[in-house]
Amino acid sequence: MAQSLDPATRQALQARVRFYRDLGLTEFYRRPVDPALLATLVAEAEESQAESATQSFQLPETETESRPESQEEQPISPRRPFPNAPVVADAVPAAERAAAMQLIRDEIGECTRCALHKGRNKLVFGDGSPTARLMFVGEGPGADEDAQGLPFVGKAGQLLNNMIAAMGLKREEVYIANVVKCRPPNNRVPEPEEGATCSPFLFRQIDVVRPEVLVALGATAATWLLGTRQPLAGLRGRIHRVRGTKLIVTYHPAYLLRDPRQKKEAWADLQIAMKELGLKPPAKG
Ligand code: URA
Repeated sequence: MAQSLDPATRQALQARVRFYRDLGLTEFYRRPVDPALLATLVAEAEESQAESATQSFQLPETETESRPESQEEQPISPRRPFPNAPVVADAVPAAERAAAMQLIRDEIGECTRCALHKGRNKLVFGDGSPTARLMFVGEGPGADEDAQGLPFVGKAGQLLNNMIAAMGLKREEVYIANVVKCRPPNNRVPEPEEGATCSPFLFRQIDVVRPEVLVALGATAATWLLGTRQPLAGLRGRIHRVRGTKLIVTYHPAYLLRDPRQKKEAWADLQIAMKELGLKPPAKG
């Protein structure tokens, strides 16, 4: 039983599991092992490894979201060309941005422009401050977002909240939106038709906020913001330019929930954004 292990044995077993898992070995017990104990040790090993990789944001204590592995580390197959993004709009004075955002929302209305509306409960427009210096862009709503009408409120959202806090910001201080505003069935990647129909509204939201830094969360956001399909690995670690704004590309929080070892890399990406914004992580208290 997991509870009967003394702390030293538990720690040693965690280290052993971590070591083997890093080597890609996952089945190495020679005699039957209590599945509950194995699950506990693997979970603890993952957690302690993630913590030692970066102390800056923590996993929520819930299970991971069932968003498909998708394209984070896979080449993105060529499909038909991207439509032109709308022309960059003039700057909106800070005092008028909330109203400008509402105009976009009104124009979207009870949207039926693409097939995604058929499975939608709530349209997920965006959330946060229209005068934010930092804006995050995800892929599309999941089940929790579809139920609540707000972006990133599920398990991936909890991790995003932690990432924002690690940067020394509050969620209300940033703006968060997605490439598509309605949930794709089974959280699949939005089809080109869906992204092409919906992303012009995202571009208009970006033009209203005019953040100093945009962060693309995952390959779908990066693909639609940059208008080009490239593997995420080649896009991370540098500053791109989109609609007059600096763009940083990092992993999607749902991917980080599945592979917490990449949190260190994500933190490095966020630090690029922080440097551009002149932010320092909050002191630990
Ligand atoms: N994943 C996304 O890409 N966006 C959300 O709003 C939630 C999960």
